[in-house]
Amino acid sequence: MTAIADNRQYILAKIAKAALAAGREPEDIALLAVAKTFPPAAMLPLLAAGQRAFGENRVQEAKAKWPALRAQFPDIELHLIGPLQSNKAAEAVALFEVIESVDRDKIARILAEECRRQGRRLQFYVEVNIGSEPQKAGIMPPQTVEFVTHCRAVYGLDIIGLMCVPPRGENAGPYFALLERLAQQAGVKKLSQGMSQDYETAIAFGATQVRLGSALFGTRPPAGAKL
Ligand SMILES: *Cc1c(COP(=O)(O)O)cnc(C)c1O
Repeated sequence: MTAIADNRQYILAKIAKAALAAGREPEDIALLAVAKTFPPAAMLPLLAAGQRAFGENRVQEAKAKWPALRAQFPDIELHLIGPLQSNKAAEAVALFEVIESVDRDKIARILAEECRRQGRRLQFYVEVNIGSEPQKAGIMPPQTVEFVTHCRAVYGLDIIGLMCVPPRGENAGPYFALLERLAQQAGVKKLSQGMSQDYETAIAFGATQVRLGSALFGTRPPAGAKL
């Protein structure tokens, strides 16, 4: 388990190096530890090392895993980075501090209603389908700026940035550069981009948060494996 804390130290050093190489400040890039499929015990060495920002891609899994850890570490900041169905919105608003997968009008409206109903103030990212892939979630690039404006003006959502997952197996650099341009046009400051394979590239293109799972925790167990 201490290997996980060592991985974090190593990654933080690589993040700092990539930041400096890009003429940026290391502290301007946050590490989100992507916990999906890994059990609560795997979180403890990271929590002991001071990590507080964690990502999950499924509401049900987060609900099973985090309330007990939060009782011990009340300042955990939980991010939803996976697709959100409207019938899970109430649970998501109760569980997460940040939702990074706002990608359509209906979910934006329901999230705003739930925040009001529960008296919760969350932060949000708009997810962009940066490679315009038919099977993938996210708002299309040409609609992004208008959608951000709409979420803010009509629903009052606190949209802090954009999030993307570039197409698999392609050079991610141009996609990260496009997300950075869209964020500037939309007037949002945060860019959630870069995963275990490409976070250094993402930092060169303005990432303010990288989302790392396997580089921290090791290879994920196959889908459907028990926690
Ligand atoms: C799983 C996941 C990650 C982390 O992926 P790794 O390649 O394991 O670092 C990041 N972002 C999203 C949206 C994910 O679903």
